[in-house]
Amino acid sequence: SSQVFDCIVIGAGAAGLMCAATAGQRGRQVLVLDHANKVGKKILMSGGGRCNFTNLYMEPDNYLSANPHFCKSALSRYTQYDFLELVSRYNLAYHDKGAGELFCDDKARDILNILLAECEKGGVNIQTDTAITAIEKTEQGQFVIDTERGQYQCHSLVIATGGLSIPKMGATGFGYKVARQFGLQVKDTEPALVPFTLSDAWLTVAQELAGVAMDIRVSCRQQSFNEALLFTHRGLSGPAILQISNYWYSSDEITIDFLPGHSVAELIEQWVTSGEKATIKTLLSQYLPKRFVLTWLGLMAADLGDKLAKQLVKKDIEQLTQFFHHWTIKPSGTEGYRTAEVTRGGVDTDGISSKTFEAKTTANLYFIGEVLDVTGWLGGFNFQWAWSSGWCAGQYV
Ligand code: FAD
Repeated sequence: SSQVFDCIVIGAGAAGLMCAATAGQRGRQVLVLDHANKVGKKILMSGGGRCNFTNLYMEPDNYLSANPHFCKSALSRYTQYDFLELVSRYNLAYHDKGAGELFCDDKARDILNILLAECEKGGVNIQTDTAITAIEKTEQGQFVIDTERGQYQCHSLVIATGGLSIPKMGATGFGYKVARQFGLQVKDTEPALVPFTLSDAWLTVAQELAGVAMDIRVSCRQQSFNEALLFTHRGLSGPAILQISNYWYSSDEITIDFLPGHSVAELIEQWVTSGEKATIKTLLSQYLPKRFVLTWLGLMAADLGDKLAKQLVKKDIEQLTQFFHHWTIKPSGTEGYRTAEVTRGGVDTDGISSKTFEAKTTANLYFIGEVLDVTGWLGGFNFQWAWSSGWCAGQYV
């Protein structure tokens, strides 16, 4: 015999817990199932342990999807202010890290505790360590969920199993499999918000500079970000690189301006005019990390760095401009799902209602959160998508 619920949510992550709490507080009998041994693991590890739980400046442009309009409805019905109102009821202490990115003052656990308290208010049952073996829909329209710990039935089924990032934390392609089972399409999935790897000579350069960080502007496919870059033993990382990785496809080049807001040519002109006696490498080191300047000048025509500004010829200035403002490189790949913060692609939103999150192919089957083909920028946008989509679906299940 199987236990019967109004609603079963598979996946006790950000979106699943939000949806379950919302539905439970509407009086629905809700069961959340997760195969992991603990709930909300990604919340706990997010934002360096402080959880960047939303962003004050939320725009549809902060999301990627084959259908850029899909996210608009949910984001406008459950906004960052709605989530702030929720956490404020629990007196959560938080701060704006700079660009509207809101982090817990203390720890990510505070966010998870709020979600769990909201679930408790809604009388939600949560069961971990439960691997799902099969899902079926009966002719009467009930879903039957077979698990290693027994059978369950429900009227509404919500898939909130997230993307493929960080398999060690319990990520699986389960949601995509269920989507296909019920006739939905799945857009190609790829690691996103992820560092790039380099190969050959550029890898050696990156390794030499590993640990060096600086503010840059990176561009790819008409998209640019002004944020920090970090050289690593594998290639390139830092927020600027994670952001652009959302837009990058295999074999694309990226272009980096290491001196955004300045012009090397103009600086040289000024140094000539003011009769600077220092060498180019010393002068550039006033603007950029010295290790970087030395390595970068070492890649160019011999002794360029040891010259004075007035000794530079047109060709030298062109080369400096090229290397410092328009460095173009083809990453050999990404670090993959092992370190990616999110998954680009997923369940095709064409098959999902942007209002209710119900599958157009199957009544009472819902998909929310990262499992959908909606990918946010770095900065709290992925959690806001989980809250917004979870809350909206929670109104209908
Ligand atoms: P998840 O939170 O991933 O939850 C999915 C749940 O489903 C998990 O509990 C999992 O165990 C369960 N599950 C998976 N497969 C199965 C299965 N087969 N059977 C049963 N259960 C299953 N975003 C931000 O906005 N701000 C941040 O600061 C931030 N930091 C991050 C840091 C790291 C290291 C990572 C990896 C991600 C970060 N993200 C951040 C992204 C954010 O964590 C995700 O976008 C968000 O958690 C997605 O929510 P979700 O509920 O859709 O999926």
